Amino acid sequence: MQAKYITKATDLAREFIGKAIKPGDIVVDATVGNGNDTLFLSRLVSESGRVYGFDIQKFALKEATQKLQTNGVLDRVELINDGHENINKYITSKVNGIMFNLGYLPGGKHEITTKNNTTLIAIKTGIELLKGNGIMTIVVYTGHEEGKREEEDILSYFEKVDQNIVNVLKLGFINQKNNPPFLLVIEKR
Ligand code: SAH
Repeated sequence: MQAKYITKATDLAREFIGKAIKPGDIVVDATVGNGNDTLFLSRLVSESGRVYGFDIQKFALKEATQKLQTNGVLDRVELINDGHENINKYITSKVNGIMFNLGYLPGGKHEITTKNNTTLIAIKTGIELLKGNGIMTIVVYTGHEEGKREEEDILSYFEKVDQNIVNVLKLGFINQKNNPPFLLVIEKR
């Protein structure tokens, strides 16, 4: 039987984000990719809210635009063809939520993956941008070299962040084969 409650890291990320984000909120999809999380976020914030989406691949943004348009939510979304490490060039107000789904796009080029240095810049900037009780989710893929570096850097960063600034939760499957991704959920205090 398929798992129903303890499912994939990406689904669990949505559970946490879904709890925190309300109509009218401002949120960021830091890795648009196929646009599924962007669509999910755009529904949560409703027409009065705003979603900013980042991706370095034009092709991904084109597909995502199509998906958002088909679902009638494109007007509340701003897609930005730049790296998430430059997030503060585009967003200056505080935000309620930020989602990261790291790694490479399934079906896309495996060389175009998120990278430890830029990922870490984006995470740090994102933490600054989060409002109190704002939520950040990060799905980390450790099954490839670049992903292992990201895992190491991200965990060593968060292990040292003051618990008075953020609460950091790590959720992962301990009995699954083939390096399943794990989830970090961060709440700004
Ligand atoms: N690994 C996930 C999908 C991740 S998609 C899965 O298996 O479902 C990650 C997306 O991040 C890709 O579309 C890629 O182009 C994008 N990306 C890579 N580096 C980026 C950066 N610096 N800023 C923003 N997006 C980036």
